[in-house]
Amino acid sequence: MQITIIASGSGGNATLFASRGTRVLVDAGVGPRVLAQCLAAAATASALGSTSDCTSDCTSDCTSGSTSAWTPDAIVITHAHADHVGVAARYNKKHKIPIYASEATARAAHLGDPERVRLFSPREPFAIGALTFSPRPLPHDAAQVALVVDDGARRAALVTDLGEVPPGLLEHVAGCDVLMLESNYDEDMLDAGPYPQHLKRRILSARGHLSNAQACALLAALPGGTHTVALMHLSENNNRPDLALAAARDALLGKRARLLAAPPRGPLVLDTAPPPGAARAPLPARQLGLFPGM
Ligand SMILES: [Zn+2]
Ligand SMILES: [Zn+2]
Repeated sequence: MQITIIASGSGGNATLFASRGTRVLVDAGVGPRVLAQCLAAAATASALGSTSDCTSDCTSDCTSGSTSAWTPDAIVITHAHADHVGVAARYNKKHKIPIYASEATARAAHLGDPERVRLFSPREPFAIGALTFSPRPLPHDAAQVALVVDDGARRAALVTDLGEVPPGLLEHVAGCDVLMLESNYDEDMLDAGPYPQHLKRRILSARGHLSNAQACALLAALPGGTHTVALMHLSENNNRPDLALAAARDALLGKRARLLAAPPRGPLVLDTAPPPGAARAPLPARQLGLFPGM
């Protein structure tokens, strides 16, 4: 499975998961042109031998500038905030691809032609082609889900936009090869920063965002098996990558995990293969629910 973080933060969120011919974009906070540019940049970097990589079936069109060559097979929306769903209706209309969302998200957001909207239950796994998505509700001021994405060989978790770590989340993400976890704000920076009080209260609340310290508490409790951690959705006003990374590095001490911070605009390509010699946690049995196949 290949993961390309296209964008992360309040300016827009989008992450592409690709495996065995299936490409699914999680969240549509950037449009097709930015997506195409990021994937082309990732493919070019890969061709030049850097750590970036590209989806295997699109390298022939890396420099064409065409957006259709980079169109995903489907989009999964985590929740109805504009930085995650803002461009979904445009993909629906222009590229005629299915948009997957929970019923609450579909009610709260404009997803485009309802004929192409597929509803998923926030607690039931569902499959799109080669990928299985296991959602779990998160506390946020919109109906939000964490997603574990599994292609049968590797598993990755995407956990952003949560005010606190709910019971059971650690078990849900345990053993994933890759964990993408929100580390939104540094408490001191938020406190001293320019945001109005009502916005600070919203971010700090149990239905707001996850602080560096809260992310670290989860990372410290993470069992073995996760070899890569990416810090996500960093605030550009209330956080700094060096602060978030330093705190997370302490929390991960002794766990031998690679640690990165996702930039507001990618591409950031994550290697889902464990480094040589890394222990692999056994995959738990998961029951498939809706949408067996495309
Ligand atoms: Zn967000
Ligand atoms: Zn949100």
